[in-house]
Amino acid sequence: MQRIEAATICIDRVVESEGPLYPTEVLLPTLSAEQLAAEAPRLTPRCIDPASGLLVLSVHSFVVRTPRRTLLVDACVGNDKERPGFGDWHRQQSPYLERLAALGLRPADIDVVCCTHLHPDHVGWNTRLADGRWVPTFPNATYLFGRVEWEQWSRYAASAPEAREGPYPPPVADVLGVCYRDSVAPVVEAGLSELVDDGYTVDDGIALRLAPGHTPGNAVLEIDRPGLRAVLSGDVVHHPLQVRFPDVSSAFCVDPARSARTRRTCLAAWAADERLVLPAHFPAPTAGRLRPDTDGFAFSFLDPDA
Ligand SMILES: [Zn+2]
Repeated sequence: MQRIEAATICIDRVVESEGPLYPTEVLLPTLSAEQLAAEAPRLTPRCIDPASGLLVLSVHSFVVRTPRRTLLVDACVGNDKERPGFGDWHRQQSPYLERLAALGLRPADIDVVCCTHLHPDHVGWNTRLADGRWVPTFPNATYLFGRVEWEQWSRYAASAPEAREGPYPPPVADVLGVCYRDSVAPVVEAGLSELVDDGYTVDDGIALRLAPGHTPGNAVLEIDRPGLRAVLSGDVVHHPLQVRFPDVSSAFCVDPARSARTRRTCLAAWAADERLVLPAHFPAPTAGRLRPDTDGFAFSFLDPDA
């Protein structure tokens, strides 16, 4: 994604990983063969890998800079995390911090970390391993966690066993409990967290909005600044197939029916507002615009080559 710039704001993407990841039937189990066949030609090769048929997904953060603050939105999977059963995410070693440095940013430069929800691919870099302990990666940041989300996941932490090999996918409560303990609790214990509610203003014209369904406290970040209306849309949509077919929820949605209702409502509002949409998992160039199309929506990537 090329840098998105307006008068007093710029947005960059920091990629942790990007490539073919899930079979369609694993990520989007209710998508029909007819729906896939109808959209596949348009989405191949950027969003569907022609060789394997796997859906192409990215795991990335957005860095939002204003004159007052530097925000990091969604913290990917992280390095060294125990994630057995999660493929390359298990004890991952990615040059994420080097990529952040390429944008001229050290961890100490981040003022606010905002996690749209507390899934393993959105909280990982909240912490890093130092002398066998998980410590906050961004020592000067305030970490914003949605209150509803935090209350839900912190309950799992008490009962979840340690990460272990087992059936895939592992019981969701176990994964979330482990993930809370290594990537959220150390931040709370360090006194760097703040629990926030729907409508919380992160900076002038940047507000957190609840968009529940994928998780109970799932949120997005709406940006209304001079010259830029955008939304960092988190996991409201994982893949462009769900833009065309908004009723299809991911296998990772805690409440698939509510997630579908939220998706339809959000996509309609963002299309009407002509917002630039920046999803958490769309591959490069990631950002794009929506318009209504038959009973769903069409997504046009902001393509630098176009
Ligand atoms: Zn995600």
